[in-house]
Amino acid sequence: MPFRYVRPIDAPDAGRALAEPSSVPLGGGTDLLVTMHEGLATPSTLVDLRRVPGSDAITTASDGTLTIGGSARLADIATHPHVRAHYGVLAEACESVGTTQLREMGTLGGNLCQRPRCWYFRRGVSCFKSGGNRCPAAQGENQYLGVLGGGPCHAPHPSDPAVALTALEATIMVGSATHERRVPMGMFYDATDVTRETVLAPGEYVRAVELSPANAGPVQRYEKLMQRGAWDFALVSLAAVRRTDGDVRLVLGGVAPKPWRVTSSIEEDVASGGLDEETIAVLAERALYDAAPLSQNGYKVTQAEALLRRAMAVIAR
Ligand SMILES: Cc1cc2nc3c(=O)[nH]c(=O)nc-3n(C[C@H](O)[C@H](O)[C@H](O)COP(=O)(O)OP(=O)(O)OC[C@H]3O[C@@H](n4cnc5c(N)ncnc54)[C@H](O)[C@@H]3O)c2cc1C
Repeated sequence: MPFRYVRPIDAPDAGRALAEPSSVPLGGGTDLLVTMHEGLATPSTLVDLRRVPGSDAITTASDGTLTIGGSARLADIATHPHVRAHYGVLAEACESVGTTQLREMGTLGGNLCQRPRCWYFRRGVSCFKSGGNRCPAAQGENQYLGVLGGGPCHAPHPSDPAVALTALEATIMVGSATHERRVPMGMFYDATDVTRETVLAPGEYVRAVELSPANAGPVQRYEKLMQRGAWDFALVSLAAVRRTDGDVRLVLGGVAPKPWRVTSSIEEDVASGGLDEETIAVLAERALYDAAPLSQNGYKVTQAEALLRRAMAVIAR
C-alpha cells in the first residue's frame, strides 16, 4: 500500500498532520513498519515525530521534575545521568529492551504504543484484537500470554519501560492538533475498545512523559525473566520502588494487557518492613490470587511470585 511520509516542523504542524484521517505517528519505525508489512496497519500518512525540534529532549526542572520527550530514544534514556541517578528502574527497563539496534532506533512514545506480540494477532488470524469475535489463543498456543486481567484478549503489553513508568507513577503528556491533556500512567492502557491498547484517541500522540521525584526513591529495581538470555521480550518482569516517603510500588509486566500493579494493601504490608521469609511468601502468593492461567502459562504465576519474593526481601527487611 502506498503511503505519504511527513516531516512536521514543530508540534502544531505535527498535530495538524496527525489530525488527517488514517495518519499515524512514526517513531523509530521498528514496530510500525513491521505491522505495515504484516498488513496489521494500513496508514495513509506517517508523521515522523522525531523531526519535531526538541521532541527527543530529556530535561529537569528546578523542582527535580523530569520530562522525557516522546521521541527520546531508549538508548539515550538508559544512559542519561539524571535518569540513572534518580529513576534507576526506568534506566534498567530501557536497557533491557531487545537489542542495541532496537534501543538506538526505538523511541519512548513508540515503545509505549507498540502493538502486542500474540502470534495469532501478528499472523492475521481473526481474533478480538483484530476485530473478530474469539481468542484463538485461549484454546491454542498461549504460553506467552497473560494470566491476569481476564481477557477477552489475553495478549500482555510488551513494553518494559511501561512497567517502570507505572511504578514511578509517571504522567503521559498527550498532544494533538486541538488540545493537550495529561494521563496518569496507571490509566494509559485502560482502553475500552479491545482492538486498541491505549486511551489515545485518533489524532493524539505521546508528546512527553513527566516524572516527579516524589514518586522515586532510594530502592529501585527492574527484573526481567526471558526465555532467551538476551534480546527478548519479558515472560514476566517486575518494577519495584521504595519511595523517599517510604511507600512501595510493585508492578508486574508480561502477565496482563497492561502493567499490573499489585494490590495496594500488599504494597502497604511490604512498606511496613520487618517481614520474615514466610510472610513474604504469603504476600507474594496473595498478589497472584486472582491469576487465571491458560492451559500453557501457569509457569508465569510461579515466576511472578518468585520475582515478588526477591524484591520484597530487599525492600521489606
Ligand atoms: C526482536 C525484537 C525484540 C524486542 N524486544 C523488546 C523488549 O524486550 N522490550 C520492549 O519493551 N520492546 C521490545 N521490542 C519492541 C521495540 O522496543 C519496539 O519496536 C520499539 O520500542 C518501538 O519504538 P519505535 O520508536 O520504533 O516505534 P514505531 O515502530 O515507530 O511505532 C510503534 C507504534 O507506536 C506508534 N507511535 C510511535 N510514536 C508514537 C508517539 N509519540 N505517540 C503515540 N504513538 C506513537 C506508531 O504509530 C506505531 O503504532 C522488541 C522488538 C523486536 C523487533
